[in-house]
Amino acid sequence: MPRKSRKNADATAPLAVKRNVFDVGAYVRLSAEDRKHKGDSIETQQSIISAYIAEHPDLELRETYIDNGLSGQSFERPAFLRMLEDLENGKINCCVTKDLSRLGRNAIDTGYYIEKHFPTHGIRYIAVNDDYDSADGNSGGIMVSLKNMINEAFALEIGRKVRTTKQMNIRNGYFIGRIPPYGYLKSQADGHKLVPDEYASVIVRRMFEMAASGHNVREILDWINGEEIPTPRRYFHSLGLTTEKEINGHIHWNKGGVYSILHNRVYCGDMIQGKGKTRSYVLERIPQSDWVITENTHEGIVSHELFAEVQKLWDKPGGKTSSKYSNPSTENIFLRKVFCGHCGYAMRRTRTGETQYNIKCDTRFYYSHDDCTLVSINENDLKEKLLESLREKSHLFAKYQSFEEVTAKADNSSKIELQNIQTELDRNNRLLKGLYESLVCGDITNTEYKDLKDSYQAKIASLTERGKKLWNDERNKNQLKLERSKAVNDLQSVQSTADLSAALINKLVDKILVYEGKRVEIQFKLSDETEGAA
Ligand SMILES: [Zn+2]
Repeated sequence: MPRKSRKNADATAPLAVKRNVFDVGAYVRLSAEDRKHKGDSIETQQSIISAYIAEHPDLELRETYIDNGLSGQSFERPAFLRMLEDLENGKINCCVTKDLSRLGRNAIDTGYYIEKHFPTHGIRYIAVNDDYDSADGNSGGIMVSLKNMINEAFALEIGRKVRTTKQMNIRNGYFIGRIPPYGYLKSQADGHKLVPDEYASVIVRRMFEMAASGHNVREILDWINGEEIPTPRRYFHSLGLTTEKEINGHIHWNKGGVYSILHNRVYCGDMIQGKGKTRSYVLERIPQSDWVITENTHEGIVSHELFAEVQKLWDKPGGKTSSKYSNPSTENIFLRKVFCGHCGYAMRRTRTGETQYNIKCDTRFYYSHDDCTLVSINENDLKEKLLESLREKSHLFAKYQSFEEVTAKADNSSKIELQNIQTELDRNNRLLKGLYESLVCGDITNTEYKDLKDSYQAKIASLTERGKKLWNDERNKNQLKLERSKAVNDLQSVQSTADLSAALINKLVDKILVYEGKRVEIQFKLSDETEGAA
């Protein structure tokens, strides 16, 4: 039955089953880049769409909207805007394009209409060559890749918005951390506001009072650990604010904890934020001059006067002691790497001479003599030991590298397979895309079309699966190789203890354990793999 007469036939035959017919707007777009692709001419797009509509009785073409980018209107897309209007006023309720790329100018644009605009306005959308139909629940696999592209682009956008909001909150003096400073809780009503914690604020105030009346850090620690007052981490854990992992170690308060409280302006009611930022998992310290300070944002636990008094009496850690030496202290290259082999706590570095530093376990000194034994090592001795150990390791790393070269040939097979898969995928995608056009031109029959389409799609799915797996394996392998070769290069650059740097140690060393009698155990980051190869 010719399509044009269908409506009339319905009207004159009241007993006919009423069909749900969609009023279609065909959207055709040509952009400047399309000159290269012959298949995308306005005429081709139009004929593919009308052939598709002719085949689907539930679709009726109402209007064709054409944006011809070659005539310089591509940015504004007047026809597209007119189509949106018609979709809004109900003239049409279905949009059909030749493929997804015709709808929007990029993945985000396209994604917005498919994922947001059309569904919320109850509009059906069909992309003929991509086999996409929003009325069809499990539409085409091509959507997966489009979705990924859209999600990535949206994630970037959201990430940027979150960062901007965070900066704004910092400037407004809102508290933006996850865990409040010890002595405070986040307000129940407003998570950006700090309120004094009934229990911990008393501890903080007492610490300030002790400091102001001349007690030293040792005496404050004796009191606080003697009373068995839980450390901030443990206290927050008991309130359910921190995870099990975050409280490991640290049963007792230590010197650093007391210092950081007594120097923190937050306790007299001012907000100081933006002290550090995390970039690629590494916390960078921001210079004090760039901190964002907002005064009187919350109730102080101590007065400004008491705070100022304590600052006068208490210099920064290391500040006073280092002044007895003529040179400034050197960088601590073992920061957060050296631990006591007996009690497991991080060991502390102290200056004992103009160029002399000791690294020792404080547990015995600050807590109780029963808690640990005397563990201490001279920093230069530790450097020597590390250097010696690194030299030994470099043989292993070198051995590993040659071992890897031998096995490199085997790696090539997966690269070749990946290339083959890509070629096959391209071929099948091309065939699939051209299929509908072949049907429209009468080169193949309907049955042939359906059979071929099914077989191409199945082939593409299985190739994609295999390719993904190979690609992931390959990427992991390359990553590992890169890390190893970097480590080997770094090792070869180390000739004397003077070449040891915090960055290098951080890259190569996981942990250094020091035992009684200056015995040292170095745990390398790459040790397991190299040992296997040696
Ligand atoms: Zn110890």
